Formats: sequence, structure tokens, C-alpha cells
Amino acid sequence: MLEIQFFGATAEVTGSCSLLRVGDLQILIDCGLIQGSAEEEARNRAPFPFEPKEIDAIILTHAHIDHSGRLPLLVSSGFRGPIYAHYASRNLCRIMLNDSARINEQKAERAGRQGGEQPAITPLYTVKDADQAVHAFHPLGYDDRRKILPGVELCLRDAGHILGSSIIELWLQFGTTRRKLVFSGDLGRRRAPVMCNPARLAEADLVVMESTYGDRNHPSWESSWDELGSILHQTAEDGGNLLIPSFAVGRTQDLLYTLNRHYRDWGLDHWKIFLDSPLATKVSELYSHHLELYNPEAAQCWRQSRSPFILPNLRVTRTAEESMEINQIHSRALIIAGSGMCDGGRIRHHLRHNVWRRECHLAMVGFQVQGTLGRALVDGVRSISLGERQFEVAARVHTIGGLSAHADQQELIRWYQTFPAGPAVSLIHGEEEARRALQQQLERLRARVSCPQYGEVLDLLAHE
Ligand SMILES: [Zn+2]
Ligand SMILES: [Zn+2]
Repeated sequence: MLEIQFFGATAEVTGSCSLLRVGDLQILIDCGLIQGSAEEEARNRAPFPFEPKEIDAIILTHAHIDHSGRLPLLVSSGFRGPIYAHYASRNLCRIMLNDSARINEQKAERAGRQGGEQPAITPLYTVKDADQAVHAFHPLGYDDRRKILPGVELCLRDAGHILGSSIIELWLQFGTTRRKLVFSGDLGRRRAPVMCNPARLAEADLVVMESTYGDRNHPSWESSWDELGSILHQTAEDGGNLLIPSFAVGRTQDLLYTLNRHYRDWGLDHWKIFLDSPLATKVSELYSHHLELYNPEAAQCWRQSRSPFILPNLRVTRTAEESMEINQIHSRALIIAGSGMCDGGRIRHHLRHNVWRRECHLAMVGFQVQGTLGRALVDGVRSISLGERQFEVAARVHTIGGLSAHADQQELIRWYQTFPAGPAVSLIHGEEEARRALQQQLERLRARVSCPQYGEVLDLLAHE
């Protein structure tokens, strides 16, 4: 038996989880959290469609929670094998999984306190489960091919998406059959502010590829940064605040790095700048210890300035009280706060104080999953509910599409074209429209493309 079964992120972008069977061996690629509306997230509680005890090893592409977020749950359900990942992914997961566990514990506690008709809920997993998962990590570097199981060799290549993000190369042998598999993971973009360009590979029998932006091309980095510059200018003129809901890993560091570089020409010395996310703060500290993983320009710049995330007037708020104090400021506050899709975190109380004010601006800088508050804002809703109250959306909402950490359609196609033999390709990690659009483009290049559904099995013995 030589096959892959897809158990997540098939026609959606969260909950990545694919199961590889090589004879009797079972290897899981990613085990991410499903994110979106409450109904979507309830799916995280469903039993795994496989027996966690019987999984021999896990390979993790990167630390984003939609790829790593159910690892503690796997461990608490009996998984006892190794988790292979880049060493930076392990370091990031130490922070991310702990944070995710604490959110889960708090949610359960809150539900318990409400009592009444609410059934008591147990947290999806605990901090202890998260710690145990981190202990199971076997950290690897890039470009280091090694045997992880009989008939299974693994090599991680830089995916250029976030710190430690990896393209997975696998050489499989079953009997006399050999197959070379490549999982793109989340693929970064060329010329990103901090990360390197995604590695280009030469051979594969099958490529499993993401398709988040399979139907779109991004504006250039330059024009996107210009857009942010002009939003800052406009906000200052209007006399309001600028809110940037930001993802803790990757986007926040790109933002801080770029604010640093444009400090003078964007007039940032006239602003009060806040990094109001304990998670993003921890992650930024970790980023600053991994200079060896940046692109040469960023590494050089950071070597010179020594503190890439520190701006002269940046305030890093740690406590909830410090965060609340920001609410006293009515103009020229640039507030970077999580969560990136506005479905939790401190951004919500900043929205409560700013979203109804005509002079304020909101810059959305990342992909917004369907069902989240962030998606509703991007889609132009006129009012939103935060807690018990309804708020009119009077602030201007800008979507800066070009700051994504994902390759766009053109870049995905170009990356695929580096495999000269035109291997078969399976598209995952994209909403249905996006992956169908990418499928069409790839088929024009005569690629054999499949778009697997949840639970679908792909027989690798059938792929020459
Ligand atoms: Zn990612
Ligand atoms: Zn992802």
C-alpha cells in the first residue's frame, strides 16, 4: 500500500491534515486546527478519522496554528511517535501551542462559569498536553536528507512563508516501488521583507500543493507598502487612529521591519505606535534570535540596527491594563493587535473604541477566513457586534492584499514549473473557487491535476 488520504484543508484553508500510508507505516503531514465560525470550530472536537496511537510519525510543515494546532490533541489521544519539523518551527510551536492551550482552557472556564443551561465543556487540550507535544518534536535543519522510518527518507526545504516553514520532500520505497513526493506546505513569496525565496525543487512523482491564492495575483510589495504609507498619511489628516489586526507570526514582524525602514518618510515620529499582542511580542523576540534564516538584505539590516522590531516610539504593551490605556488616545495611534481575523484578542476592544469613528482607519493585512469578523469587515458589513453591543462601522476599512505571506497564482505556477517532468499535482489548502482556478491554469500546462475532497484516497502506486 502506498497512498495519501486527505483529512483536512481540502476545499478550505484551515485544518491541514494528510495521512500517508507506506505499507504498514502511517505518517501524518500536519495536524492543524480548523478555524472559522463556531460551527466550523466545533469540528475540532470530532474524533480523529484515524487511530492516533497507530501513527508512526508526524511531519510538520510550519508552526501556524492551522497546521500545528491539533498536535496536543493527538498526543492526548495516544500518539507517541516523533514529530519531525524545522528547529524554528519547534521553537515557535512552544509559544503557539501554549497560547492556543491557554485560550482553550479560558474558553472552557468561562463556559463553566456561565453555568445554567450551558453544558460543562472540557478544554480541547490543556497547557500540559501542549508541553507534551513540544517534547515529541525532533528538530531538523533545512536541506538535510535523512531516513526517518524504513523506506522513508525526509528532507525539509525553505518554503519562505514564516520562520522555519518547510517544503517537505519524501523519498518512499515500498517493495520495489519508489516514489518521490513533495508537499509544498504554505508557500511564501519571492522578495518578502524578511524571509528567503521559496526553495525550487527539481523532481517529484507527485506534488501536493497549496492554493490559497490560486485565483489571484498580488499587487507588488512596493505598491502595497505605498498603500500603507498613504493610509497612515490619510489617518493623520483625518485625526483618527489606525488599527492593524495582525497575525502574530510573520505579518507582525514584516510590518515592524517595514515601519522601521520607512520611519522617516512615513512621518512615524509623530505617531504613538503600539504592539499590543503578548503573543506577537514573544514571537518577535524569537524571530530576532534566528538571523540565520532571513534573506541577506534583512539579515544585514538587522545586524546594523540590532533591534529590528524596536522603533523609537514603539510601546510593547504587556498587561491588559496597559492595553486599555491605549483607549484614551484618539488620534495618531498606530495599533498593531491580534488576532489577525478579529475573532479574539485585544483588537476587539480597540474596535469597540474606534470602529464607529469616521476619522479612524482599519488596515486588513492578511487572508480572512469565511465566518470570521475580519472577513465580514473586508466584505463591507455596515455594523458588527462585539460582546453584547452592536457597533456601526464608520471607520474606513482598507484591504492591503499585497502583504500576504502566500505565493499568488503566478508564483504558484512558476514554482510548479521548476519540476521539469511536469509531475501530477494535488491541490489543497484553498477555497474551492481558488483551487479550481489554479487547476485550470495548471491544466493548460498539461499538468495532471486533482482537487481531492475530504477523506479521498490517492493511490500512489497508480502515479508513475
Ligand atoms: Zn501558514
Ligand atoms: Zn496554512
